[in-house]
Amino acid sequence: MKILVTVKRVPDPNATIKVKPDGSGIVTDNLKYVVNPFDEIAIEEALRIKEKGGGAEVVLASIGAKESAEQLRTGLAMGADRAILVLADQPLDSLGTARIFEKLAKDEQADLVLMGKQAIDDDCNQTGQMLAALLGWPQATFASKAEALDSDAEKQGLPGVVLSGKSAKVLREVDGGLETLEIGLPAVVTVDLRLNTPRYASLPGIMKARKKELKEVPVASLGLDVAPRVKIHKLAPPPARQAGRKVASVEELVQVLHTEAKVI
Ligand SMILES: Cc1cc2nc3c(=O)[nH]c(=O)nc-3n(C[C@H](O)[C@H](O)[C@H](O)COP(=O)(O)OP(=O)(O)OC[C@H]3O[C@@H](n4cnc5c(N)ncnc54)[C@H](O)[C@@H]3O)c2cc1C
Repeated sequence: MKILVTVKRVPDPNATIKVKPDGSGIVTDNLKYVVNPFDEIAIEEALRIKEKGGGAEVVLASIGAKESAEQLRTGLAMGADRAILVLADQPLDSLGTARIFEKLAKDEQADLVLMGKQAIDDDCNQTGQMLAALLGWPQATFASKAEALDSDAEKQGLPGVVLSGKSAKVLREVDGGLETLEIGLPAVVTVDLRLNTPRYASLPGIMKARKKELKEVPVASLGLDVAPRVKIHKLAPPPARQAGRKVASVEELVQVLHTEAKVI
């Protein structure tokens, strides 16, 4: 059993993001980068599947500049077995990204690809779906968990994506609640926020990670067409929030809601 987990280097969600004055991108000076939070959940899920038995190998894959090795080392320190970094400096859209992961999933003969439902930098929510389509594999998106995260199952670290033989049982979040799917392997599963709480990398884990294999592959060597079909024309910050206003009494609040906000 081999589980391929995708790991994207993204700006820290707690950092204040500033858009460049010409709208061509974001200001990256002194910006802290982290593992995409949804990918961290995917790594945790893969490790839980592995720890439940059956001898799974957890292989991480990232696409980007050399610096992405930092995020792969974080995943290796959490407990993944080895990592692949596809070196690509050029901009990629979701389809180009999915094509690269398609090649890796085939070359690695992965049984399961675990991915975040979206990357928090471009928020596309489509790479997993595109990958499943390119591979012709079943997919389950938004994997979540029936129990609250403080449940006994979560405290015991049990996986939410359960593999048995050649199939996987996946709980997924839908607007009205949770849906249970059974899909054949190999498959692509994208994970949502409430699937698990990722572990911290321990100090021994960080030491061990330094010796684990991290293979670098130039994107040109894969022989793929990854020219973007999607062009970003401009980024713009959201409008500044209006200042709040204090009212003196409930009567005044009702009056304002009625005459100005017109909501009652
Ligand atoms: C757990 C959860 C959390 C969410 N949180 C948010 C949130 O925070 N903010 C937010 O804005 N939204 C949220 N949503 C809504 C979510 O973003 C939308 O459901 C999603 O964008 C739609 O994408 P999809 O791939 O599910 O749609 P699809 O099912 O792929 O449908 C997309 C479109 O395809 C077309 N289509 C699909 N099937 C057919 C058909 N049979 N015939 C004709 N046309 C069809 C329709 O035009 C449809 O609108 C959430 C949804 C879920 C399930």
